[in-house]
Amino acid sequence: MRAKIRVTGIVQGVGFRPFIYRTAVKNHLNGYVRNRGDAGVEIVLEGEKSDIKNFKKDLRDKKPPLAHIYETITETLGGENRYKAFTIYKSSKELELSGSVIPPDVAICDDCLKELRNPEDPRFEYFFITCTDCGPRYTIIEGLPYDRENTTMRDFPMCSFCKREYSDPLNRRFHAQTVACPECGPEAYLTTSTGELIDHKDPIRETGKLLSEGYVVAVKGYGGFHVASSTILDKPLIRLREVKHRRQKPFAIMAPTLEAIRTFAEVAPRERKLLTSYTRPIVLLKKSRDHHLSDLVAPGLHNIGVMLPYTGLHYMLFDEVDDPAFVMTSANPPNQPIIKDDEEALKGLGEIVDYFLFHNRQIAHRSDDSVARVHGQRQVLIRRSRGYAPTPVILKEKSRRCTVGLGGELNNTSCVLLDDKAFISQHIGDVENIETRQFLEEATKRLIRLTNSKVEAVACDLHPKFATTLIARELAEEKGWQMVPVQHHYAHVAGLMAEHGVDEIIGICCDGYGYGVDGEAWGGEILFCTRESTGFGRLAHLQKQPLVGGDLATRYPLRVAAGILHGKANVEDWLLENKLQFPHGEKEIEVVLHQLRKVGSLIKTTSCGRVLDAVAALLGACYERTYEGEPAMKLESLATKGRDSLNLQPKIQGGTLETTGLVLEIFERKDQIPKADLARSAHVYLAEGLASLALEKAYEKGVRNIGFTGGVAFNGIIASRIREIVESSGLKFLVHETVPPGDGGTSFGQAVVAGLYAS
Ligand SMILES: [Zn+2]
Ligand SMILES: [Zn+2]
Repeated sequence: MRAKIRVTGIVQGVGFRPFIYRTAVKNHLNGYVRNRGDAGVEIVLEGEKSDIKNFKKDLRDKKPPLAHIYETITETLGGENRYKAFTIYKSSKELELSGSVIPPDVAICDDCLKELRNPEDPRFEYFFITCTDCGPRYTIIEGLPYDRENTTMRDFPMCSFCKREYSDPLNRRFHAQTVACPECGPEAYLTTSTGELIDHKDPIRETGKLLSEGYVVAVKGYGGFHVASSTILDKPLIRLREVKHRRQKPFAIMAPTLEAIRTFAEVAPRERKLLTSYTRPIVLLKKSRDHHLSDLVAPGLHNIGVMLPYTGLHYMLFDEVDDPAFVMTSANPPNQPIIKDDEEALKGLGEIVDYFLFHNRQIAHRSDDSVARVHGQRQVLIRRSRGYAPTPVILKEKSRRCTVGLGGELNNTSCVLLDDKAFISQHIGDVENIETRQFLEEATKRLIRLTNSKVEAVACDLHPKFATTLIARELAEEKGWQMVPVQHHYAHVAGLMAEHGVDEIIGICCDGYGYGVDGEAWGGEILFCTRESTGFGRLAHLQKQPLVGGDLATRYPLRVAAGILHGKANVEDWLLENKLQFPHGEKEIEVVLHQLRKVGSLIKTTSCGRVLDAVAALLGACYERTYEGEPAMKLESLATKGRDSLNLQPKIQGGTLETTGLVLEIFERKDQIPKADLARSAHVYLAEGLASLALEKAYEKGVRNIGFTGGVAFNGIIASRIREIVESSGLKFLVHETVPPGDGGTSFGQAVVAGLYAS
C-alpha cells in the first residue's frame, strides 16, 4: 500500500520529523517526511497495510510532548513502490493547508538541565543548551518552514559534534534546529554600560555576582532584554525606580528554585504546577509571613510576581550567589515594546544599567514574559505571551469565516481566528504611539502568514479614535476586508462564551473603561449576550458617577471620590485636609469644587474600577495611579487583611447598583472601623450587588450561565464571592481559563464576534 498523510498542527520545531522517522522505521515502512512552508508536515509511506495502520496509531498515541495534531488527511496513492528506505527530506516551501503554527518558546527541559550540570557532558555549563523538546522557537523564527536557515540560528553553523547528533536518528537532538554547543553556538559576554567588552571567562556567573553586590545589569534573553537587580538591597531598587520612572509598579522577579521562593512567598500546589510548567509564566504569589525581600520590589501589594529560570543562562546567574531571587523586569522604555536589539538596548538602557550581559544571537521577534495568578484551583492569565503565543486557543466549533481582531488600546494583543482556532499574538502593550502601533501591525501580519490564513474581516473597538480602530479601517480599505467594530464589554463577554462554547449568557463585565454604544464611559455592566450577530443587551450597570477632570480622575482617584460624595458629605474640608495629594494643592481643589457645582456637565462613568479607585483613595491605600490598576490592586491587598464588618446590603434600583451609599458609608466610618475591614466590605458589596443583579437578570431571561470578565475579574476577592453566590443558586458560573479576562483578551472576543457570531 502507498499512502500520503498530511498533518496540520504544531508539528514543526517539536521533534516531529524525527518521531515520524523512528515510527516509520519501527513499522517497516519506506517513504519520506518533510516540513512544508505552511507549517504542516507531509508524509509518504510505502509498505504493508497493517503497518501503515499501526503507524497511524503510533502517530496518534506516541507523538512528541510538544506536538499538537489538529488534522491528518490521508490519501491512498496508486502506482508502484518507489522508495528503498525512509528518509527525512529537505523541506518544501509549499503553502497548501492553513491552520498550522510553530510552537512557543519552551523552558529548558530536565534532560538538558542535567547535561548543563554534568561535567562529563560536552555541553556542560553551556547556557543555551537545548534539544527537540526545549528552547526558543517563536522568537527565533524568521520564515517557514522551520529549518535552521530560516531562524536566527542561521549565523551559527554546527560543529562536527553537533552535526553528528543532529544527524543521528537515535539522538535526542536529531534534527533539533537550535542544537549548539560551546564550540559552535551563541556566546555570552559582559560589557560596560557603554558597550565596552569586559574580558571575563565566566560572564554569566560574574553577572550574578554583580547583581548580588548591588549593580544593575541588562540581561538579554530569548524574547528581549530584562533589567536585573538585587531583590534585597534597597539602593539599586531605588535607582531603578528613579530611572525607569516606575515609582510603584511591582517588579517581576526570578528565583532559582521552589525552595528559594518558599523563603519569601507561599506556593500552593496549583501555583507550583504553573511555576514549573514549560510555559514558565510569572506567577503572582502571596508574600509569606517571613517575607524578607525589599519592600521596594512590590510596594503596597500582598503578592509578588515570581518566575523560575527558563534558560540555562538564567540558572547559571544564581550559581555563585545566595540571593533568593533577582529582579527581572522587562526592559522597555515607557509605553514602548520590550527591547530586543543590542543597539536599541545600548541606546535605551545605557543610562539605567551598570552592565550588559549580551549574547550574540539575534532576536527575531520580541515576546514579554507571561503573567498568571491562581484563584482557588483555577489559573487566571493576566498576560498571555512567552510560552503561550502563538499556540492557539481551540474553540468548540468552527468560525464561519476567518477574521482578525486588533483589540483596544491598553495591554493589547491581536488575534487571528481561523476555523476552530484562535491564534492570539504575544503581549503588545499600550497602542498609543508609533512603536507599539508598528509592533501590533508586524505581529498581526506575522500571525496571518504563519497560519496561512485568508482573512475576510477585521474587527476592532467601537471607539472611533483608538489607533487600533484607524489601523482596522486602513486594513479594511487596503485588503477589501469587512470592518466590524465591536463594543468593548461585548467583546469580553463574547470571548468568554466562545471559550466555553455556550449559546447565551448573562455576563458581568467590570473594568476601568470601555466606550459604550451611547458614547459614554462603561465599565460595570451586566450584559445579555446570545450568538445573534445583532449584538447584546445592556440589562444593568453600576450607578453613573461623575469623572471630575476626565483622565485626571483616572490618575488621581481622590477626584472620583469627591465626585461621588459631592452633595452628600462635607467634601470641601476633607479635600483640604488631603491637599498634599493634589499636585497643585488648594488651587486644584478649588477647580475640582467649581466643576462639581456644574456636575450635570461632567462625563459620567459606570466603571467598577473607578469605584474601587475611589475607595482606595478614601482609605489612603493609593492617591495616585502610577500604573494601570494600581489603586484597585492596593485596595485588594489591604482587603486581604480585613473582614466585612460593614455588612451593607447592596442597593439595587431599576437595573442600577448604587455606589454612592457604599462610598459615603466608608467615608463616614473610615476613622471608626479598621481600614482593611472597610476595604473588604467594599469588595463584598460590589461582588454581592453584581451577583444579585446578574441572578435577577438570568431568571428574567431564563438563562443558565453567568460569566465574569473584564480586568476586575483578576481580583480574587470579588471573583470568588460572585462565584459562591452564583453557584449556590444552582446556575453555572463561567470565567476565562485560557484567555486573559483583561484587555489582553479583547482581540479574541472581537474576532469571535466578527467570525463565529457573524450572520
Ligand atoms: Zn531539552
Ligand atoms: Zn557544536
